[in-house]
Amino acid sequence: MRSIQRLPDHLINQIAAGEVIDRPASALKELLENSIDADARHIAVALEAGGVRLILVEDDGSGIAAEELELALDRHATSKIRTLDELEHVQTLGFRGEGLASIASVSRLTLSSRPRDADMAWQIRAEDGKLLPKTPCSYPQGTRVEVAELYFNVPARRKFLKSTQTEYAHCLHIFQRIALSNPQVALRLTHNQKTIFNLPAQSMQARMHAILGESFAHHALNIDANLQDWTLNGWIAHPSAGSVSKDAMYFFVNGRFVRDRAITHAIRQAYRDVLHHERSLAYALFLSMPPDDVDINVHPSKTEVRFKDSQNIFRFIFHHLREQLAQTIAGASLATSANSSDLAAKSSENLKTSSHFTFSGGQFPKPTPQNAGELGLNFYDKQFGTLTKRETSANIAEHADVFAENAAIQTQTQNCPPENLSFAKNSAKSNNFAKNTAIFSKNNEKSAQQAVFDEVPPLGFALAQLHGIYILAQAPQGLIVVDMHAAHERILYERLKTSLAQRQALPAQHLLLPQRCQLSPSQWAHFCVHAPLLESLGFSFENKDLNSETMPENFAITRAPSLIAHEALDDLLQRILAHCADIGEGADDEIAAQQDAILATMACHRAVRAHHRLSLPEMNAILRDMEKTERSAQCNHGRPTWRLLDFAELDALFLRGK
Ligand code: ADP
Ligand code: MG
Repeated sequence: MRSIQRLPDHLINQIAAGEVIDRPASALKELLENSIDADARHIAVALEAGGVRLILVEDDGSGIAAEELELALDRHATSKIRTLDELEHVQTLGFRGEGLASIASVSRLTLSSRPRDADMAWQIRAEDGKLLPKTPCSYPQGTRVEVAELYFNVPARRKFLKSTQTEYAHCLHIFQRIALSNPQVALRLTHNQKTIFNLPAQSMQARMHAILGESFAHHALNIDANLQDWTLNGWIAHPSAGSVSKDAMYFFVNGRFVRDRAITHAIRQAYRDVLHHERSLAYALFLSMPPDDVDINVHPSKTEVRFKDSQNIFRFIFHHLREQLAQTIAGASLATSANSSDLAAKSSENLKTSSHFTFSGGQFPKPTPQNAGELGLNFYDKQFGTLTKRETSANIAEHADVFAENAAIQTQTQNCPPENLSFAKNSAKSNNFAKNTAIFSKNNEKSAQQAVFDEVPPLGFALAQLHGIYILAQAPQGLIVVDMHAAHERILYERLKTSLAQRQALPAQHLLLPQRCQLSPSQWAHFCVHAPLLESLGFSFENKDLNSETMPENFAITRAPSLIAHEALDDLLQRILAHCADIGEGADDEIAAQQDAILATMACHRAVRAHHRLSLPEMNAILRDMEKTERSAQCNHGRPTWRLLDFAELDALFLRGK
């Protein structure tokens, strides 16, 4: 063994750089954070070759005094904290004093600066651990850091760099994070001389729009909550809004971007049964709390933090997001419907690929107006009979009147000879309902029909069923298309959840004949784990020996929740067990997640299937229920349940007014 020696400073810096500056994006992060800490109002970033050839950051912040330039490049030299107590209350993004030193040890760095009251700027250069003497230079005010040829002296590290495009993408993400949490600062970014962002100082909302994009901004749900001295602000994506880029997940704690597993988990849990598995989460959330409640000095890169009370933070975030997501009710805000091209693409795809699609002219349901007195609600009533029967029939009765009037309008419309309608002349440029109601009356006075339409519910009235898959409805804004199974599934699911929450149990019934099941050894193993949960939901079993390795011979279901008591329970049990297998067990939120998964499976199993013919009153009953059901804008799997094709979109399809 050789003798022990102190490492040279330069090597110490290079070792530290391995941790802090692992790629160009981390160097950019350190530089941008320094500019923010210096209270810059304008920051310009120029990158070349993904930041590997050049990272240039110019700001108009407080600047560095000429006599401190060398010190700024020294390790453990900082102006931001002086004592341990200050560390515990630190408000700046930096405090470790190793950012510039680390970058300087692995690049050719030039630092120029001029504090506000100084009469000239000075510049200092560092190369491979050596400082060159400082020289005067010209710079208006603030600081300019040029980092050229990152890792030129660390070939091993250079080899680990990914393609220019990848390194650039990382830099971009860092830029966006800083931009999002500092809307008061004007920021510019160029890559290879091309301008990527040029953001003025702006409102939080405008900045969010600029960084997360139109699609997110248009549909986002606003978050604004507080608990004691914690506040949570920002936006989360509407579950059925158009796709947002994969890395649109921004969480800031006291202005600092943070990646925390417990927080991500809380957010994911909040989206549990409203987000489609192929969709990624998207959010921009800002948590503010007293500095004492969070420790940011956990990791050199400072993207990890430790909360004093992480359990409560988790609950705070989860509950508030969950509450907001519950408001995603179908039709609640027609402005949040997705665009029609999305819909058109989807449905044509559906027609092309759907194997259960059989075309036969004679099968088209005729959109004849029906007599509301003959409400054929057997089917729908049966669906909900076991849950909240009274409520359901009351709703339907209540809506029957409006429906009757609607039917009358339809009749009148159909009897009306086309030439008498002011349709052709008046609606050429129309794109709102007020103008389109002209279709329904021969004169433009506020007629009886108009009055009825003032009361039209958001999802309108059913016109017909399309191929046994979609409900088509006429609404004030245009045509509503509802995925009947998806919508019904959500309605049943929410009712099951409510019923369970209110009574701690689901209405259940004994089966006339015990239903035998065939479970594979692995299904049986899952059953043994989840049997208590299933029993708490209303199932009973006979001959269940939970100590047995394999399923006992005469194992059977004897009692089941009434909603599904008439279903093929063998198949359903297998599906439930498959779902349970995907979720962990033990923790409170996992038990809740499992319970939800079971209810969701039951709802899916029971919901109207494709090709089930529905009468108009049945369809209207579904629409009315959607309007009252929490989260009904998407099904249990996160697929949208409804879309609006508004008049503007319809007019565009037919080149009206062009
Ligand atoms: P830290 O940010 O942790 O203090 P750095 O190595 O990043 O450590 O910077 C060292 C010091 O240099 C800072 O404390 C600050 O005083 C000064 N400094 C660095 N960048 C700037 C800047 N853009 N504007 C003003 N001062 C700066
Ligand atoms: Mg710093």
